[in-house]
Parts: sequence; structure tokens; C-alpha cells
Amino acid sequence: MSLKITFLGTGTSQGIPIIGSTHPVCLSSNIKDKRLRVSVLLEWGNNTFVIDCGPDFRQQMLRANVIQLDGVIFTHEHADHTAGLDDIRPFCFRQGAMPFYAHKRVLGELRTRFNYIFTTENKYPGSPVVEALEIENKPFVLADKTIIPVDGLHNGLQVFGFRIDNFAYLTDMKTIKQEELEKLKDLDVLVINALRETFSPSHFTLDEALEVISFLKPKKAYLTHISHQLGFHDDVQQKLPKNVYLAYDMLQINLK
Ligand SMILES: [Zn+2]
Ligand SMILES: [Zn+2]
Repeated sequence: MSLKITFLGTGTSQGIPIIGSTHPVCLSSNIKDKRLRVSVLLEWGNNTFVIDCGPDFRQQMLRANVIQLDGVIFTHEHADHTAGLDDIRPFCFRQGAMPFYAHKRVLGELRTRFNYIFTTENKYPGSPVVEALEIENKPFVLADKTIIPVDGLHNGLQVFGFRIDNFAYLTDMKTIKQEELEKLKDLDVLVINALRETFSPSHFTLDEALEVISFLKPKKAYLTHISHQLGFHDDVQQKLPKNVYLAYDMLQINLK
């Protein structure tokens, strides 16, 4: 069954432009240089899921005209991936409890940060209602598709990437073990984080992402979780190898 991917956001944690920044990329008038915090929408059949729920979630749902959401899959607990959680309320009001798929540690972090959502005592009316579903590094089924988690490290923090059919989405990774890379063979599309050209302790640089891409050889690769320090979209795109693209907000990919 076909899979439609919409890049809801492709920026690193501060987004682009950064508040108050006079960096040329932050001042760019090119729409492709404006990046909300990282997230993707996945649609197949009548199913709609989102990977991560960062601080731009509300704006992203409005911009992509999402009227139904069947669940949120979390890569990890950092604020740029989770801070928009309160804004699932319109979906809860219409649909009921929102399924959350996340590592046990991430669910624990969310329980601490969003205690009012997870509490069962004296819960304030109108708060989001969630169904917390723990995932491990084992395939699980969403609607009629098998999702294969891919374990990586983000500095020292465990993060999940996900493979669905011949599509895979990796963000906030710095290292991936060989056995996890084995799960990413024969992809049509690989999305992978590439922060900037200079070293980062927690994210792939452009060269590191390109190394993973040349090892895995997907048919096409798209770079995401991009810092303003990487440069202007159009300049960076010209320097990339064949079949490697900088993702940009609202880019859509349809896979058969
Ligand atoms: Zn991030
Ligand atoms: Zn992170």
C-alpha cells in the first residue's frame, strides 16, 4: 500500500529563523530556508500518524490541514520533539484518547513533564487524553503496516528511528551500530539528520550523514534537522551528490 510522507518541519531545535538572529540564512526570503522544528506526517489508506510533536505542532497541523490523527510516534524526549503535546487536544475532543508510541524512558519523561496529562487524580477537564503504548527495539504494527524501530545514539541518549516499508526516518542520531544499519538495506527513501558541516557531539554532520547514505545506498536520501549554519538551501543542494536532497518544510514524497 502506498505511503505519503509530508515534512512538517526540517529545522534543528531553535528552528530557522532563530529568534533575533541576523545570520544571513535566518534573514533569507527563500521559503525553503524557513524551517519549523522537525516532524513528519505519514499517511496511508485512512491512517494518519505523526513522528514527534514539537513546539510547532499546532502550526504544522494547520498548515498541512490535518483533520484526523491516529497516533504520535516519538523518537526521543527532547523538547524540540515533544513540547507541542498540549495541542493534541482538538484531536482528543473529536476522536478520544490519542495513542502515543514511545520508548519506556520517553513515556516516563513525558509523565514527569506533562504530569497534568497523565495524572488520573483530579484531572483538569479539557486536558489531553492519551493512551501510552510502550515500544521496544522490535517491530510493531500500526494499522496494517509493520514499523521497524532502528536504535541509534544521540550523544549518549538512545533514540529511535523507524523503517516503514522501503522508507526510513532517522533524526537526532550521531551513531548507529552495524546491526541496526542492517535494518536499512534496500530503501527507496532514507531521511537522515544532517545538522551542519562542523562537528556536533550529538548530531551527524553533513559528511557523516553522507557517509551513512553512501554505505546504505538508498535510491534517494533526504537530509533533515538542519541548522542555519549548514547554509542556504539552494547553495547546499547544488553541492550534494546525485539522489541526495535537502528536505524542506511541506515537501511531500509519495511511495508506491
Ligand atoms: Zn532534535
Ligand atoms: Zn534531540
